[in-house]
Amino acid sequence: MNDLKKRDTKLHRVYLDNATTSFPKPESVYRVVECFMRDCGGSAGRSGHYAAIEAQRIIDDARLLCAGLLNAPSPQNIIFTPNATTAINIALKGILSTNDNVVFGSFEHNAVTRPLYSLSKCGISVTKIESDLDSGLDKEQLKNAIRSDTRLVICNHVSNVFGTENDVVGIGRICRESGVLFMVDAAQSAGVKLIDVQGMCIDLLAFSGHKSLFGLQGTGGLYVASGVQVRPLIEGGTGSAAVGVMSSDEMFEQPAKLPDKLESGTINTHGIVGLAAGLRFIFETGIDRIAAKELELVSRLVNGLQEINGIRVISPAKKFNRGSVVSFQHDSIPPDQIAAILDTGFGIAVRSGLHCAFAPHQTIGTIKSGGTVRISPNYFNNESEIDYCIDAIRKIS
Ligand code: PMP
Repeated sequence: MNDLKKRDTKLHRVYLDNATTSFPKPESVYRVVECFMRDCGGSAGRSGHYAAIEAQRIIDDARLLCAGLLNAPSPQNIIFTPNATTAINIALKGILSTNDNVVFGSFEHNAVTRPLYSLSKCGISVTKIESDLDSGLDKEQLKNAIRSDTRLVICNHVSNVFGTENDVVGIGRICRESGVLFMVDAAQSAGVKLIDVQGMCIDLLAFSGHKSLFGLQGTGGLYVASGVQVRPLIEGGTGSAAVGVMSSDEMFEQPAKLPDKLESGTINTHGIVGLAAGLRFIFETGIDRIAAKELELVSRLVNGLQEINGIRVISPAKKFNRGSVVSFQHDSIPPDQIAAILDTGFGIAVRSGLHCAFAPHQTIGTIKSGGTVRISPNYFNNESEIDYCIDAIRKIS
């Protein structure tokens, strides 16, 4: 923190790495988290005193807000997790069994491809569908790939590497017609794209709390449609039991009801308090307004980058139906050098490399050249920051 302050005096700081985690948060997020830590501090679902009851009220409220955001039938369909990676692991490992087949896209994050790789070593077959920079996952290939043993299709809503948006409505329809479960990795879209799990035929959906939902790191969640049976990855640690009503065997069993079944252990209540404030900010501001601003900034950024000699933008060539993530390469300067100079020479935070996603780079052929430089503006950035960043890249180039 002290180092950061020292650097502050010399450099104008611009944060453009919101696809990793968003910064800053809305003022209300800082306020409520501090208020909860100072004035409440209870843990939900344990004790019966005022602080525990208040913590429970906050968790219930956050669950309701998440259900509203996704159009889930009930707050009980929302499971809080520490991040999207945990949510994806719970779903994949709790749904798939030996001899099942799972279909996934070629732009998936390691949070999807690594659990699938380890499942493929345990008798689960995996089928990869190619994705295109502009149109995303190939739906014709998907239709042909679904087999009688296919249990689940999983893909992201928006690619964290290129910003490509998948047609989740079309993919959901194919899955429903084929009788297979559909899971969406919404780490990059929840809070900035309209999501209707019921209308989009989505059975499972993972989200990060700390990106476009403006919550704290250490928050995320999983939506599980009613009737979808997910085996718990972690058991115990919840108090839900009815003494005198349940038999001793039942007392030892993991609760069968959601969310308790999949939500063992003390919840990150401090984080969820912040997440609820982030969600309220989104509802008050409007997803449309947030998305429109982000896409205006992305468009300005892409236009500016395309005018710089030696730069190749590797992102969808469209203004809408995409995420606010822009990747690029320079024909002679490696991505990590560009990101380092932007950071130390101009105070601009961007990300370089593979962005925790090997498969998309394998698909597009950007591994040997060290991945890409990734710029990800959000609602709190402005046009002058984008212009400052374009100008800095022009100077480096
Ligand atoms: N999927 C995608 C598309 C992502 O961008 C990320 C985060 N970079 C994740 C999954 C993992 O999210 P989390 O950090 O919340 O585990």
